[in-house]
Amino acid sequence: LSDKLQDVFKKLKSKGKLTEKDVTAALREVKLALLEADVNFKVVKSFIDKIKERAVGQEVLESLTPGQQVIKIVHEELIDLMGSTQSKLTFSSMPPTVYMMVGLQGAGKTTTSGKLGGQIKKMGKKPLLVACDVYRPAAIKQLQVVGSQVGVPVFSIEDSKQPVEIAKAALEYAKANHNDVVIVDTAGRLHIDEKLMNELEEIKSAVKPQEILLVVDAMTGQDAVNVAESFNEKLGIDGVILTKLDGDTRGGAALSVRSVTQKPIKYVGLGEKLEDLQPFYPDRMASRILGMGDVLTLIEKAQQSFDAKKVSALEQKFRKMEFDFDDFLEQMQQVKKMGPLNQILGMIPGMNTQKLGDIEVDEKEIAHIEAIIKSMTKEERKDPSILNGSRKRRIAAGSGRDLQEVNRLIKQFEQMRKMMKQLSDMTKGKKGKFKLP
Ligand code: GDP
Ligand code: MG
Repeated sequence: LSDKLQDVFKKLKSKGKLTEKDVTAALREVKLALLEADVNFKVVKSFIDKIKERAVGQEVLESLTPGQQVIKIVHEELIDLMGSTQSKLTFSSMPPTVYMMVGLQGAGKTTTSGKLGGQIKKMGKKPLLVACDVYRPAAIKQLQVVGSQVGVPVFSIEDSKQPVEIAKAALEYAKANHNDVVIVDTAGRLHIDEKLMNELEEIKSAVKPQEILLVVDAMTGQDAVNVAESFNEKLGIDGVILTKLDGDTRGGAALSVRSVTQKPIKYVGLGEKLEDLQPFYPDRMASRILGMGDVLTLIEKAQQSFDAKKVSALEQKFRKMEFDFDDFLEQMQQVKKMGPLNQILGMIPGMNTQKLGDIEVDEKEIAHIEAIIKSMTKEERKDPSILNGSRKRRIAAGSGRDLQEVNRLIKQFEQMRKMMKQLSDMTKGKKGKFKLP
């Protein structure tokens, strides 16, 4: 979807003044791109109508940068479509706060319960996971495994086949043990049926959840939206967690869920690992769809792993192009902490992640880089521009790597420097909205 839209807007931007015909033609392509991305057709229709109404107005056709104006309108409407602001989890004023996780089999309920438990624990709370999937033999074990990975206890009754009883007992247990948040993992089925809904209905009335969170698989596109609609009609949901967004190249579910159900997406799952759960930000998702990259998420991610002071010091260095090989070495080591490099790079505007495919920084490579940098003198590290042929040969010999590799590293370093400078210039404008500590 992102690629398609970028093409449409490239055409639009390259034009000077726009006619109503230009806008109509561009919007027809936007419409096709959305339909191809598996966005609900009703959603597409009203989306396009809204944009058209705004875009063919005087403000656009007579402005100096009509192409950009249209993009801005599309951006704003995309954000609106996904619910405008980030929708947070709510907590009950009378703990324990109960969240009930529901959804079809394989959607990611159990994994997400664990991820969520881990994040809530990091907020300083004392969550409890509850195993109410009594049908799949390995379900309890699975929850115990994810629970132990995030350090959150799991309540289960091994030989019980009564999810409602388990849920009730878990509440008692939580109260006795001062668990202030209870996350109930329920069973799913391949399709929505009456039996599943009845069981969920019973658990719901037994535990009176603060929120029923529906877990849906983004990769199933329009099906995910249909599932959300049914669950909302039959059971009533408070929010959606969209999993497997990492494998969703089209974005159809993310765009339609809110508008079809009127319920917000609260979190998105971006991978199988337990840290791969993020709050859903409509504005960032919209930027991403429009191909502007997700600079804010990138910085936030960096902040989680970097020491805050280091971040702002680095930022200064990037801006002044003072970033040197010593910083580079440190960066390489930090990047390892931030997670897979391709995921990070995907958030940088203009990066084509498909092309990046499987770039990975492996330990060995970092060791080689370290060897090369350590074979440089202090002056060379501070000012790479003095690296001439004989210096490079000396470094190659000293580090035991070949000359080609030394050259490659220096080139990569220069590229990174440029990229970081661009990135920090871009984010500078957004400082008011998002400040570095
Ligand atoms: P449940 O049947 O709803 O409880 O689903 P599970 O939690 O067992 O998850 C089903 C599969 O989806 C597992 O293999 C998970 O690792 C995987 N999964 C869950 N969330 C994500 C995600 O955000 N991204 C990816 N790539 N896989 C996920
Ligand atoms: Mg499960």
